[in-house]
Amino acid sequence: SRIPRIVILGAGYGGIITALRLQKELNYNEADVTLVNKHDYHYITTHLHMPAAGTDHFENARVSILKLIDEFKIDFVKSTVVQIRTQDKKVILEDGTLSYDYLVIGLGGEPETFGIPGLLENAMNIRSINTVRHIKEHIEYQFAKYKKEPRRTDYLTFVVGGAGFTGIEFIGELADRIPQLCKDFDVDPALVKVYNVEAAPTALPGFDPELVEYAMDVLTKKGVTFKIATAIKECTTDGVQLADGEFIKSQTVIWTGGIRGNRLIEEAGFEAMRGRVKVDEFLRAPGHENVFIVGDGSLVISPENRPYPPTAQIAMQQGVVCAQNLVGSIRNTSLKQFEYKSKGTVASLGKGEAIGVVGDKKVKGFWAAQLKKMIDIRYLFIIGGIPLVLKKGKFF
Ligand code: FAD
Ligand code: NAD
Repeated sequence: SRIPRIVILGAGYGGIITALRLQKELNYNEADVTLVNKHDYHYITTHLHMPAAGTDHFENARVSILKLIDEFKIDFVKSTVVQIRTQDKKVILEDGTLSYDYLVIGLGGEPETFGIPGLLENAMNIRSINTVRHIKEHIEYQFAKYKKEPRRTDYLTFVVGGAGFTGIEFIGELADRIPQLCKDFDVDPALVKVYNVEAAPTALPGFDPELVEYAMDVLTKKGVTFKIATAIKECTTDGVQLADGEFIKSQTVIWTGGIRGNRLIEEAGFEAMRGRVKVDEFLRAPGHENVFIVGDGSLVISPENRPYPPTAQIAMQQGVVCAQNLVGSIRNTSLKQFEYKSKGTVASLGKGEAIGVVGDKKVKGFWAAQLKKMIDIRYLFIIGGIPLVLKKGKFF
């Protein structure tokens, strides 16, 4: 009989781990595996807050896919997926079509704007190598423009919408970068304003209150102004309108107010909540025994009946089980139930500062920052071994 065809869409955390695991577990000629990704590199999303602020180079946040996979075992196709057609078991690419027997959807998420007017058009997002390069260049350009139009202090006002982990990690880097930018462009630091606007009654809603207070303290000392319990209502070309009536004039709005699943999932007809499919215990889309979904496009409910937050950590664990279940499906052996085991959460607050919860232990400050580095290095080791750690790892 014909060799089964496996197509993996997206080489993010979920997709690349699925591919790497399959390459290890499949026997010769047991399946044809194709990995499709928009770019010829995998980006380390968890690092993107740094190149976005310009505190690290974007090359440290991406890895060539062909350096990670074995081309004798996996075909890599650099293309953009435009449609998933489950009825015909086909995927339409911008420049071709792929047929599959088994499909893995690992296309990640996209910014959720909740229909807030102007955000799509006027705000920037920390999402990919391309969007963070744009953010970095944009920020520098504002300083240059201010020197030509010194009355326009709105060029020196930066707004981050949302104080979730992405907003907090980015603003920590931005606050670290501002003094250098002021020096480089001969700008008085007192003129620069950095706002973090959060709708919920606290920053990092749901996280340990003591650590939230610590984080806000560290960031406030670095010059960040928090506007908590204040929703962004609108974003225009001149700035943001807040729910309390204030209008912040700014040419730089970074929206980190939430993410949803990739639109292609809903367009394919899967039942989804904010673009996420509640997958079965084997990570399959309900009603589709041959379609697995991993990462930000999937929804897994905890034993306490709450959805797990979309993280790289869960996407990686899903990739491991997804590969096992693809092999199980092909060999007609039993499938493995997915159970998420949280290793904790550590978030950076800029240079030398971080907060985290690991097991029942809280960490903060210098040691938390070291832990964050270790987590990043561990990931490089998992996908690319020691050579990648030496090439892209940050030890200091
Ligand atoms: P992604 O990693 O988003 O990858 C999706 C892939 O699909 C990309 O390669 C993309 O190019 C490709 N793609 C998308 N659309 C198409 C298309 N149409 N055609 C072809 N290819 C396509 N989580 C943690 O656990 N720990 C952290 O410390 C952490 N830090 C973060 C820091 C920041 C700044 C951000 C933004 C997020 C962070 N997260 C963290 C969350 C984490 O990055 C995401 O949950 C994770 O990336 C989701 O992985 P994924 O496999 O679903 O998709
Ligand atoms: P998020 O959904 O976690 O946070 C978005 C924040 O924006 C929320 O606090 C929300 O209340 C706020 N918000 C929503 N609408 C608003 C409005 N109109 N005005 C002002 N604020 C508004 O999104 P995120 O921070 O991008 O995180 C996405 C996922 O990635 C999460 O699961 C997170 O845990 C994960 N992540 C983890 C890390 C880490 O572990 N170090 C870092 C970054 C992201």
